[in-house]
Amino acid sequence: MFEKLALIGIGLIGSSIARGTRLKGLARTITISTRREETLDEARRLGLGDSYTLDPVEAVAGADLVILCVPVQAYGPLMQQIGPWLAPGAILSDVGSVKQHVIRAMAPHVPEGVHLIPGHPIAGTEHSGPSAGFAELFINRWCVLTPVAGTDGGAIDRLTGFWTALGSNVEIMDAAHHDMVLAITSHIPHLVAYNIVGTVADLEQDTQSEVIKFSASGFRDFTRIAASDPVMWRDVFLTNRDAVLEMLGRFLEDLSKLQRMVRVGDGDGLEALFTRTRTIRRSIITAGQETAAPDFGRPHADLSQLGTASGIAALDGAAAPLVEVNVEPDHPVRDHGGGDDA
Ligand code: NAP
Repeated sequence: MFEKLALIGIGLIGSSIARGTRLKGLARTITISTRREETLDEARRLGLGDSYTLDPVEAVAGADLVILCVPVQAYGPLMQQIGPWLAPGAILSDVGSVKQHVIRAMAPHVPEGVHLIPGHPIAGTEHSGPSAGFAELFINRWCVLTPVAGTDGGAIDRLTGFWTALGSNVEIMDAAHHDMVLAITSHIPHLVAYNIVGTVADLEQDTQSEVIKFSASGFRDFTRIAASDPVMWRDVFLTNRDAVLEMLGRFLEDLSKLQRMVRVGDGDGLEALFTRTRTIRRSIITAGQETAAPDFGRPHADLSQLGTASGIAALDGAAAPLVEVNVEPDHPVRDHGGGDDA
C-alpha cells in the first residue's frame, strides 16, 4: 500500500486510477490536482480523492506515488514545476500513450533518489473527463512499464503490484519497442479512422446523410475511434512521429497492393488476405482482449416486438426494447468502449 498517491490530471485515465485505488485500498490518501477549477470541482463532486488542489507542487509534497495523467505535451512544463519537490524515495510514473518522448521530457527533472518508471495502461474509451472513468477499466488489459536501465527493482515490483491490483497484466518493455508496437496497434488505426471519418465530413450534404443512415455497414465502427480526445491524439502523433511514419509507410505500401488487387480483379489475392486477417481477430479473442459476441456484443432490438409501436420506434433508432445477444457470462462487467486504448 502507498501512503499518498498524487494524481496530476483527473480525466478518463486519472479518475479510473482514483476509483480503482479507492476500491482496492491501494493508497492511504489520494490527492488530486488538475489544471482547471471546473475539472477539480467535478472530481470533488464525484468524491474521487481525499484532497484537491490546482497546485501540482502541493499535490506531490510527501507523495510516495505520483502519476501524471495529462496529455504528453504537457509533461515538460509540469515536470519543471514539480521536479524539485518530489519526495526522496517516491515512485514517479505516468500513463502517456508514447514512451520515448515522455522519458525525454521527464528524466532531466527527476531528482536523485526518485524512481522514474513510465507506464502505459493499454485501456481506454473514446470519452474524456473525470466522469468518464470507472474502476474496472484496467481489468484484463495490459499495462506496459518502460523503466530505463538501472531502475531500482524494488520500485518496479511495487508499481507492478499496484497495476496488478487494478486488474492489469503488466509487461516490462523498452520504450522504443513500445512506441513501435503501439504505432501499429493503436496510432495508425486512429489515423485511419480520423481519415475515413474526415473524408465523410468533407462529402457533400446529401451523400453525408446517406453515410450516416447506412453507417452500420462498417463506417460507424470507425466513428467511435475517431471520436477520441483531439488534444490527446494530436500529442500522440506529434511525439511518436518516427514510429508512426515508419508504420504508415508500410501501411501505404500494403494499401497500394490492395488497390492493385481490386483494379486487376485478383479475387484469390483478396480472399487470401481476408482469410489471414480473420485469423488475427480470432487470436485477439482467444487472448481475451475482445468479446467473441458478434457485432462487439451490441444489443439488438427484439424481433417479436417489431410491428408494435415500440418496435417501429426501434426501426427509427429511438428507445426500443433491447435484448442482449451472446454476451459471455465471464466478460468484465463494464463495456470497454469496444476495447479502445491509446
Ligand atoms: P482526459 O480525460 O482528457 O483528461 C486530461 C487531464 O489532463 C485533465 O485533468 C486535464 O485538466 C489535464 N490537462 C489537459 N491538458 C493539460 C495541460 N496542457 N496541462 C496540464 N494539464 C492538462 O485525458 P485521458 O484520456 O485521461 O488521457 C490522459 C493521458 O492518458 C494521456 O497522456 C493519454 O495519452 C493517456 N492514455 C489515454 C487513453 C485513452 O484511451 N483516453 C488510454 C491510455 C493512455 P483540465 O480538465 O483541468 O484542463
